[in-house]
Amino acid sequence: MYVVRCLSCGFVLYQGAEPKTVEAVIKMWGGYCPKCLSPLEKRPVKIGLKLLAK
Ligand SMILES: [Zn+2]
Repeated sequence: MYVVRCLSCGFVLYQGAEPKTVEAVIKMWGGYCPKCLSPLEKRPVKIGLKLLAK
């Protein structure tokens, strides 16, 4: 199970069995977290997203 969360508020931006690239998840939401409205950035250091694989 792959989960991509917003690092600012923990909102689950993507959850599923298929791994998705951070870029694809960002595009899905139009570049902003729908909950806290933080801009989601692609750069690894300030990515605003966390990818967890369990
Ligand atoms: Zn957020």
